[in-house]
Amino acid sequence: MDCLFCKIINREIPADIVYEDDEVLAFNDISPQAPTHVLIIPKQHIATLNDIEESQLATIGRLQFVAANLARERGFAEDGYRVVMNCNEDGGQTVYHIHMHLMGGRRFTWPAG
Ligand code: IMP
Repeated sequence: MDCLFCKIINREIPADIVYEDDEVLAFNDISPQAPTHVLIIPKQHIATLNDIEESQLATIGRLQFVAANLARERGFAEDGYRVVMNCNEDGGQTVYHIHMHLMGGRRFTWPAG
């Protein structure tokens, strides 16, 4: 499958991996928008948020669980952080393998642009 993030999972292209378990992989974003900018992805290929099936809900919840653990480890869980999942073109999605952006270490504004 010609999917960038599947290639990272399969170690066909390099990434700066910060966490891995049976279901989930997390690695530093190549173009960080905050002191911490990690992408947390399911190992199973899911193209967009619209494609999640009921059998995958535990894995999707695990993305947030891993994000919170990383935030705690890095010391900004209490101050706060931003998680973002973009869906399709208007949502700003550019890689069609769902991913949670975990961004922390600075203050964010709202609303998002
Ligand atoms: P999206 O716009 O929500 O789909 O986010 C895709 C993210 O993937 C962007 O923040 C990119 O900087 C990031 N990205 C693209 N290619 C790579 C890569 O090879 N390694 C790590 N991050 C990447």
